Amino acid sequence: NTVVLKNRGLLRQQAFVNGQWIDASNKDTYEVLNPATGAVIATVPSLSADEVELAIHGAAKAQKDWAAKTAQERSRILRRWFELMHENAEDLALLMTTEQGKPLAEARGEVAYAASFIEWFSEEARRVYGRIIPQPSNDRRLMVMKQPIGVVGAITPWNFPAAMLTRKAGPALAAGCAMVAKPAEDTPLTALALGVLAAEAGVPDGVLNIVTGKPDVVGPALMGSSIVRKVSFTGSTAVGKLLMRQAADTVKKLSLELGGNAPFIVFDDADVDAAVDGVMASKYRNTGQTCVCANRIFVQSGIYDSFTQKLAEKVSTMKVGAGTEDGVVQGPLINKAALEKVKRHVADAKAKGGRVLTGGDVHERGGSFFQPTVIADATPDMQVFVEETFGPVAPIFRFETEDEAVALANDTPFGLASYFFSRDLARIFRAAEALESGIVAVNSGVFSTEVAPFGGVKESGLGREGGQEGIEEYLETKFLCLGL
Ligand code: ADP
Repeated sequence: NTVVLKNRGLLRQQAFVNGQWIDASNKDTYEVLNPATGAVIATVPSLSADEVELAIHGAAKAQKDWAAKTAQERSRILRRWFELMHENAEDLALLMTTEQGKPLAEARGEVAYAASFIEWFSEEARRVYGRIIPQPSNDRRLMVMKQPIGVVGAITPWNFPAAMLTRKAGPALAAGCAMVAKPAEDTPLTALALGVLAAEAGVPDGVLNIVTGKPDVVGPALMGSSIVRKVSFTGSTAVGKLLMRQAADTVKKLSLELGGNAPFIVFDDADVDAAVDGVMASKYRNTGQTCVCANRIFVQSGIYDSFTQKLAEKVSTMKVGAGTEDGVVQGPLINKAALEKVKRHVADAKAKGGRVLTGGDVHERGGSFFQPTVIADATPDMQVFVEETFGPVAPIFRFETEDEAVALANDTPFGLASYFFSRDLARIFRAAEALESGIVAVNSGVFSTEVAPFGGVKESGLGREGGQEGIEEYLETKFLCLGL
C-alpha cells in the first residue's frame, strides 16, 4: 500500500453491508489508483446485483428500528460520528488526497465540510415538526405528520468523496431513513473509512451500507428495487437523466445534483482585485473539478484588459504537483479521460481565436497534470461556453451591457451556481433575480456551507441539500384526518 494511516483500521478493501465487511462472493475486485502517480493504492470488491440486493434488504430491516428511536437518540449517534470525523481528520484527508488528488489543505477543508453536514443534521433531526390544520368542520381534527421515506440509495461522485456522501447520509439518517450508498469507482476508500467511523459512532448494522462496484451493476440494482423509495445522486447530467428514466418504473423520489456551467460576471463597477481573487477561488478549486467552478467568465469591456492581465499573473504562479507535496495548490486531474477533455476544450478555443495568456498545455510532470490556464477573447461558439470543462482553464468573454451579460449567462440548459461582482446595489438585485440558477454568489467566489440550501434549476437538477431544506428531501408528508 502506498498510503500509511495512523488509524490503520480506516483503510478498508471490502464493502460494508449489514454491519459486515464483505468481499464479492465471486472475489471480483477492481483497483483504486493514486491519480498523482498512477500507483495502485488498494483493491475493492465489485459486488454483484445479488449482493446489492442483500444490502437493500438489510437496510429495510434495520430502518424500522432506526426510525423507532427517538430523534434525540439518532441525533446523539450522528453527533458522535461528526466528532470521530474530526478526531480522524488527518487520516481522512491523506486518504482522500491519495485517491482523489486534491492538495492536502483542500482535503482537510473537505473533511471539515463533510463533518459539518453530520453535525448540522444531528441538530436538524430534533426539529422535524408536523402541524395541526384548523378543521373545516368541528366533527374532525386535521394533522400533518412527517415520516422517514424508508430505504434510500445514494450515488456519489469522485470530486468530493467525503462531503457528497455526508450531505446525503446526514439528513437521511437524521430523518430515520436507512441508506445504501455507492461511492464513485475512482474514490471508494474515503467512503469506506466513513463507514468505519459511522459504525464506531453507534450507527446500527444495516442503517448505512457502502456498496462498491460497477455503476452498471450497482446502479440498476438500486434503481430497480421497489424497496428503495428514493435515490439521491450527484454526478453528470447524462447519468442523472438515465436514473430519472430508470426511476419511473417504481415511481421513486429523486434528488439530483447534476452538472453546471457557471457564469462568473465581473461588471465595470466591481472591485477588480476582489473579483480576481473570487475567480481564483471558484475556478481553480480542486483543479477546476467542481460542479460550481466558474466555467465562463464574463468581463465588462472597461476593465477587461486589466482584469485578464491580473488574473493571468496570479494563475501563472500556481504550484502544480501531487497533493501531498508542500505548497502545491493544483493537483492532477482525476484520470486520463478528464485530461483529454481539457485538452480538447483548449485546442477548440485556440482554433476559434482564443488567446492563451498563461498555461494552455499538459504539464511537464506528465500523467494527468495540466497547466493552470487563462484564455482571453473567448466567444460563445467555443466548447468552453457550451460544456463544463472540469479542469483548470479560465476562458474570459468580453461584454458591453448588463442585459447582454445576463442573457449570455442564462444561455445554457444548466443552472446550478452563478457568480457576479458589482458594487451597485440596484444592479445586484436586478442581476441576482434575473440569473437562472439555484445559487447566486455576489462579491464572493465561495459560498458552500451546511446551513444553506445547495442545488440547481433547469438541467442542473432537482431538490436541495443542506440547510433546513436538506432533511425535507428524506421525509414523507402524511395527512391524518381524525373524525371525533
Ligand atoms: P463523472 O463523469 O463526473 O464521473 P458520473 O455521473 O459518471 O460523473 O459519476 C457519478 C456517479 O455516478 C459515480 O458514482 C458513478 O459510478 C455513477 N454512475 C455512472 N454511471 C452510472 C449508471 N449508469 N448508473 C448508476 N450510477 C452510475
